[in-house]
Amino acid sequence: MTVNLKLEQGREEYLRKLKAGEIEKPENMTPIEKAKQNPRSLRAAVNAKCFDCCCYSRTEVRDCTAVNCPLYFLRPWQGKARDLNTIGKE
Ligand code: SF4
Repeated sequence: MTVNLKLEQGREEYLRKLKAGEIEKPENMTPIEKAKQNPRSLRAAVNAKCFDCCCYSRTEVRDCTAVNCPLYFLRPWQGKARDLNTIGKE
């Protein structure tokens, strides 16, 4: 209950600052843009590579079936982890 109250207070403060022009709403960046901003992040690099590989479709990354790709188990947006014993038997 206390945590939710603090979250709600923080949200209200954020919205108040946005409305007052004290802060700007952050732009939504693609994984590729994020990787360019943080070039030493391996996670950002993997996310960007998979995003690029699947023609900028997060759904395609999630549904990727290239189990032989070195990034397969590291790719983002996988959702529920797959059972390693079922790979290749589907
Ligand atoms: S894991 Fe899939 S989406 Fe990611 S780079 Fe490999 S083939 Fe492309």
